Amino acid sequence: MARRRTWNPITIVLRRLRRIERQSATRDRTPWTKAIDWSLLLSLPLGFVLAFVLDANVARVSTETLATVRLGRDDRGTPLRGVIVREDSAGAPWPFGSPLATVEIRRRTIDHGWPFASRTTVAPLELPTVPLADPDVVVDLARRDASIGLSELRDATDVDLFDGLDVSMEVMISERRRDLVEDVRSRSAVTRRSWSATLAAAATLWILLFVGSILAIRTIQFGSVIARRGRRRSMVGRLRDGRCPFCGYDLSGVSFPKRCSECGRRIWG
Ligand SMILES: [Zn+2]
Repeated sequence: MARRRTWNPITIVLRRLRRIERQSATRDRTPWTKAIDWSLLLSLPLGFVLAFVLDANVARVSTETLATVRLGRDDRGTPLRGVIVREDSAGAPWPFGSPLATVEIRRRTIDHGWPFASRTTVAPLELPTVPLADPDVVVDLARRDASIGLSELRDATDVDLFDGLDVSMEVMISERRRDLVEDVRSRSAVTRRSWSATLAAAATLWILLFVGSILAIRTIQFGSVIARRGRRRSMVGRLRDGRCPFCGYDLSGVSFPKRCSECGRRIWG
């Protein structure tokens, strides 16, 4: 009977199982090789479950600085002004009479899952601001509660950065980075799911679980063979010494005893 070629994974697995069953009828398959066949099958759903557990519990965060803005005033009482910092001019002098703070425009990306990112969350832009007057204070201008931090800063150091967000956005617009401005205003996190990455993660975990279970099964098998060999050796040794091979009771007075008079187990005949 000619069998049609198939790419259906369920059919392939079923055929493989039938072949395993046929071989086990003709060939002497030990419990150990059967355990390996089963672990191949059982680690598949386990791989999928594990992929979703890791998706929910493993997160890698990466932060990228998109731009840096310096804030300052030309003089006390003049409006707040901002300039963008180019990478090559980070050490350049501040172009203000009264320099006030550095604003970073940062994007945080969170990858969920292992070993592949099955979900990626792009967090809303952050604008952590470090005032020169007190570098230990960092206020995120993009947060809704930024005004609390800004009033604390004004009370403590007399530095007023309430216009910091608007000034930073104006700098971004003048630098043709309107996309960043819209990103700050919308404050929405975007999560993308990649099912192909989920599938790849599940397949990788399946293989890892299968290889791990083969190693575990073979280790236990090896251990049991060694133990059985040791047991057999000690039984032979006891018989040679004229003792019961099971409990070690001294039976040297009797030649070829049928049963052990101590534990009652059959020895000869
Ligand atoms: Zn005995």
